[in-house]
Amino acid sequence: MVALLLLAACNRGGLPAGDARRPDVILVSIDSLRPDHLGAYGNERPVSPFLDSLAASGLRYTEARAHSPWTLPSHVTMLSGRSPLDHGVIESDRGIPDDLPMVQEAFQKAGYRTAGFVSTIFVSDAYGFARGFDRFEDFDIARSDNLKHPVRAEQVVTEALTWAEAQSGAPIFLFVHLYDVHYPYLPPEPWNYQIDKPGSRKSTAYRTYEFYKSKPVTPERWVHLKAQYDESIAYADAQLARLGEAWAVSGRKVDWVITSDHGEELGERGSWGHAHTLFPEVMRVPLLVSGASVPAAGVREERVGTGDVAATLAGLAGLEFASGGLDVRGAIPERDHVFETSRMESARLGLLTGSRRIDVDFARDRIDVFHVDRDPAERLVTLDDAPDLERRLYGLVGEAWSASGTVITPGWALSDGKRLDHRFVGPGRFGVFPADSRIDGEAVRDAPLPGKITLADATREQLKALGYEQ
Ligand SMILES: [Zn+2]
Repeated sequence: MVALLLLAACNRGGLPAGDARRPDVILVSIDSLRPDHLGAYGNERPVSPFLDSLAASGLRYTEARAHSPWTLPSHVTMLSGRSPLDHGVIESDRGIPDDLPMVQEAFQKAGYRTAGFVSTIFVSDAYGFARGFDRFEDFDIARSDNLKHPVRAEQVVTEALTWAEAQSGAPIFLFVHLYDVHYPYLPPEPWNYQIDKPGSRKSTAYRTYEFYKSKPVTPERWVHLKAQYDESIAYADAQLARLGEAWAVSGRKVDWVITSDHGEELGERGSWGHAHTLFPEVMRVPLLVSGASVPAAGVREERVGTGDVAATLAGLAGLEFASGGLDVRGAIPERDHVFETSRMESARLGLLTGSRRIDVDFARDRIDVFHVDRDPAERLVTLDDAPDLERRLYGLVGEAWSASGTVITPGWALSDGKRLDHRFVGPGRFGVFPADSRIDGEAVRDAPLPGKITLADATREQLKALGYEQ
């Protein structure tokens, strides 16, 4: 009781009463968070007591995956339930289509107070993420001079709490995006020396694998990088615990969904970072669903994805929201999971189905098949041919079509399994993925058109300097 009173005293007045019938719903996306670095998923370092407590009282998903290994497409998927190849926001010069329904709009229409607090340009208003939020705070991160200054979890959580404290009588939908676990893993003091020495800004993340062949990361440096990564998680967890305490003290009904937009390679293949491969260290994400609408705790082993997050959020609030995903609290049939990236000069498609995963690497003209039942880390290259998997994959990402005119696509196109340039001339049979591709000026297919985003030159230069653009 004493502890509760102290917490209440720290809470600057605390949250007002909400809606006794409808729960608040809080979505937390912790950028670049691998599941296996949370205590609930087996990390022996005690870095995530708050998130572990949500896992213990709710549902923990052991087979959750993102559909894209980088921030922008993955968050559009998370909030829309549509796959990256479906919504088309797969390049950094495209924004959310105006007619793509977003789950926060469903909350807003249902009388929820909605707010988003985010901390990177790729989840900012510059890409259209503000739509459907009564309050959207991106801390001006899209402005070039702010890119140099990370938005800390403490600031994000404080702003979110300040907003929530002003919401009386209505339920809340709150979206919190934290960037502290993203490279270069530099938590503030005193978190930065909890496990070993503080880190430095000097980073080799996002270099090519060829770079690491001549300059491999030393074993000592891997130990240090993983320590910094864990310290960053500990910092983010401690800040999120402030949200947890505020809701616990207030007595408001609340449901939590905790996830990430992608994982992080930490040396599995000699590199670190994410975005240019589809291997499990970057595609696996944590997923926790916990709170008033989750009466029984448990561990769920069915395959789910960030494409299910929007449907789950809506389901927690009893709202209708049409998306491609499922409310993961219910029955989950076996489904195919498609992955894509064209980031950092890569061009990969992946399909996870049954006990196999096919990885099509167009840039290197290479196809690998992994038997994930006996090789879940996807380390063993097989010599299998898998024409059935290729057919299944292309059937899911779009049937080939014929063109006789000039084709222009801002993304990438395929012809008989070969990657083509952005502009080419038919005739031929092609599979083209971006929704805004054109043949002689006509749209290739009837799909929402991603908006064109033009970043300031200075912003783009800073993104390049940070390793986000190449
Ligand atoms: Zn990210």
